Amino acid sequence: MMTDLKKNIELVRDKIKKAALKANRNPDHIKLISVTKTRTDQEIKNVIKAGLNQLGENRAQEVQEKFDLISNLGADIHFIGHLQSNKVKYILDKVKLIHSLDRMSLAETLIKEAEKRNITVDVLVQVNVAEESSKFGLKSDQVVPFLKEVASSKHLQVKGLMTMAPFETEPERTRPVFKELRELSEEISHLNFKNVEMKFLSMGMSNDYEIAVEEGANMVRVGTSIFGERQ
Ligand SMILES: *Cc1c(COP(=O)(O)O)cnc(C)c1O
Repeated sequence: MMTDLKKNIELVRDKIKKAALKANRNPDHIKLISVTKTRTDQEIKNVIKAGLNQLGENRAQEVQEKFDLISNLGADIHFIGHLQSNKVKYILDKVKLIHSLDRMSLAETLIKEAEKRNITVDVLVQVNVAEESSKFGLKSDQVVPFLKEVASSKHLQVKGLMTMAPFETEPERTRPVFKELRELSEEISHLNFKNVEMKFLSMGMSNDYEIAVEEGANMVRVGTSIFGERQ
């Protein structure tokens, strides 16, 4: 099993590298986040041992359950799922980056809890570029007004944008979504908001990460292509 995992990781890394070079980008600037939601402790140990130390989780409950294991092995957790405001207090000190800030009420809760602890929270704003009703996230044209409001607190540091493209059997069709997010991030960086830095573009999953990398992703979130199908 471990050899499968290593092979899968090598293959993903190789494809990231090829996509980056195709777009004249430095492959070393792309972070591979291994999505460990639903995976067992043993799978988590194996993936960290294989050299991936940035893990993605999408449920607060799983973050709480897996935190000791993951942090003891020196890895970081990225929160990539929809975050309920009442769960913020349980995960705030356990995650490195929240990829899914998608509404004002969540920003307010994050700021309140961060103030209490006198810490800053790093977040990405989730954008529902394709405006799918099944997905969370701001519409593209809501992002700038949203940032104008949340940028006022130094306890919340916006580090970039995240999106999930619609599932396409032909991954090439996701390209316009990733392109739009990259252009939006460029537009925002020119606005020079306080506490806002367009450092990360989190986009691309197993089905479409190569296209995302070609379009400028510097964080890709990959689960299935590393571990196989989820149960
Ligand atoms: C599950 C998940 C992923 C990984 O999906 P795969 O298709 O298994 O690579 C990436 N991003 C988010 C937000 C997810 O929930």
